[in-house]
Amino acid sequence: MSVQVVSAAAAAKVPEVELKDLSPSEAEPQLGLSTAAVSAMAPPAGGGDPEAPAPAAERPPAPGPGSGPAAALSPAAGKVPQASAMKRSDPHHQHQRHRDGGEALVSPDGTVTEAPRTVKKQIQFADQKQEFNKRPTKIGRRSLSRSISQSSTDSYSSAASYTDSSDDETSPRDKQQKNSKGSSDFCVKNIKQAEFGRREIEIAEQEMPALMALRKRAQGEKPLAGAKIVGCTHITAQTAVLMETLGALGAQCRWAACNIYSTLNEVAAALAESGFPVFAWKGESEDDFWWCIDRCVNVEGWQPNMILDDGGDLTHWIYKKYPNMFKKIKGIVEESVTGVHRLYQLSKAGKLCVPAMNVNDSVTKQKFDNLYCCRESILDGLKRTTDMMFGGKQVVVCGYGEVGKGCCAALKAMGSIVYVTEIDPICALQACMDGFRLVKLNEVIRQVDIVITCTGNKNVVTREHLDRMKNSCIVCNMGHSNTEIDVASLRTPELTWERVRSQVDHVIWPDGKRIVLLAEGRLLNLSCSTVPTFVLSITATTQALALIELYNAPEGRYKQDVYLLPKKMDEYVASLHLPTFDAHLTELTDEQAKYLGLNKNGPFKPNYYRY
Ligand code: NAD
Repeated sequence: MSVQVVSAAAAAKVPEVELKDLSPSEAEPQLGLSTAAVSAMAPPAGGGDPEAPAPAAERPPAPGPGSGPAAALSPAAGKVPQASAMKRSDPHHQHQRHRDGGEALVSPDGTVTEAPRTVKKQIQFADQKQEFNKRPTKIGRRSLSRSISQSSTDSYSSAASYTDSSDDETSPRDKQQKNSKGSSDFCVKNIKQAEFGRREIEIAEQEMPALMALRKRAQGEKPLAGAKIVGCTHITAQTAVLMETLGALGAQCRWAACNIYSTLNEVAAALAESGFPVFAWKGESEDDFWWCIDRCVNVEGWQPNMILDDGGDLTHWIYKKYPNMFKKIKGIVEESVTGVHRLYQLSKAGKLCVPAMNVNDSVTKQKFDNLYCCRESILDGLKRTTDMMFGGKQVVVCGYGEVGKGCCAALKAMGSIVYVTEIDPICALQACMDGFRLVKLNEVIRQVDIVITCTGNKNVVTREHLDRMKNSCIVCNMGHSNTEIDVASLRTPELTWERVRSQVDHVIWPDGKRIVLLAEGRLLNLSCSTVPTFVLSITATTQALALIELYNAPEGRYKQDVYLLPKKMDEYVASLHLPTFDAHLTELTDEQAKYLGLNKNGPFKPNYYRY
């Protein structure tokens, strides 16, 4: 089947996207649910009780029959001439998601209180275990031929998590633990933390409306009945909500952590207590990391038929150790840039033996990760590390892409005076139209109080800039990698480094001037703050729908290739989040739909549309 592109001009704009045309029977995504189930899963119009039936006229179009992922079941849906999946050949520069939980303390009598941030004794920061300016040490019980991915060792948020004050040094692997039902098919730090973890999960549920709606709406249908999902993600309250949703939809799950530092022990305990075989704890060694993955996969009488991965380590392990398992595996859902990149490499080499969904590049996820998440978390990261006031401060933001736009909007709203640097005249003009002064960094570097990089580029802030900054200037990065600020150039004998807080360094010049460097130039928000649960809700819902789609897709719909989520699914994910806001979506009239050449139930935009 030939490749179909909407127009030559459009294709020219998105050279990295290759649209795949599928046969009419495959032309729309399906959830593998009956039409009735799809209707049942549709969110109600205008919020309120998601169970309450809404009059048809008030119902938002996307989720009704003929829309939403399962809407493909409607015959009309097939009429929209749109490819059901896109392949991106060059995934690049998207950030990887790290998550963290809140802060709290548990007293010896079990009372849970919020931890004052100053009580450092009870709070364990991720970087306390690391030597200054060094990558975390990976101590394994045996050496391994392949290192775990960068994402699995990336230092983690300083936002504290509960640590058991009675923490012993015994490895969880050497402990004999059982949950209250007598099962020992798990390995977590301390099963006794389950109750506290359950509260964290309940808090996360409040901000994950789409997953909760999926749970309710698919109650009778169980679209994942028979699915055996092996997962490797951050183990946080938010992923716990996802896992429990997958369970509610009928799946059996076994789970390991994709990052050796990011597991919230109490959440892992809560999951183990409620019967999920979870193998993860905070501070795993490299050997532990692979052991946990292996315990998820290498089980007697249980073989996975779906993979949910974040970083590609689990997929890699199965390829390396148990390649035969792929005979039963129906698909891989991958969240991270790294993992997606690996999948594309496998596909290119002709070694990908099952279909895979690239969740990372779905529209809703990207918008939420880049613009909305950064709009909120830039302030959070700066506040937690410096306690600064934003009003009246002069800030320069380098890069006016999605992340830069979010940062600028937040700081402007707080009363900061914001300057922007850009290399692209289009983004530069956008900055001007949004009321920001477009400058070269050199022009303002002496006067600004804060410098924020969001370019995805390298050496945007050089030693020369750092030399010229005024005393107490705060320097930080919101871009993916730590290349934007030339931190290495500050490691010279005449400069003194003082670690004043977790993730906060004062770099002091011989004349006494000091700059405040946050997170050593790594991603500020992911290193120093938490990611809003609502953002993670988008990703988790997308993951759940991708699993449902791949699990239920008829033979042949998806080949051994990497697919983007069909746009209809993106629209469905968005529509599932609308009731939270009591949002009332307008439905196209027949006449309007005809005029625009659209199906009334979506998709509403061509694939090349920039939101
Ligand atoms: P983008 O491509 O939309 O924006 C980057 C902008 O920087 C572009 O407009 C580009 O023209 C500009 N730019 C490049 N070099 C420059 C320079 N030397 N000086 C000034 N401007 C320059 O990308 P984005 O979505 O905004 O993401 C930016 C970075 O943030 C990426 O590395 C991305 O992976 C990362 N990211 C971070 C988070 C987070 O949570 N912190 C979330 C998403 C993405």
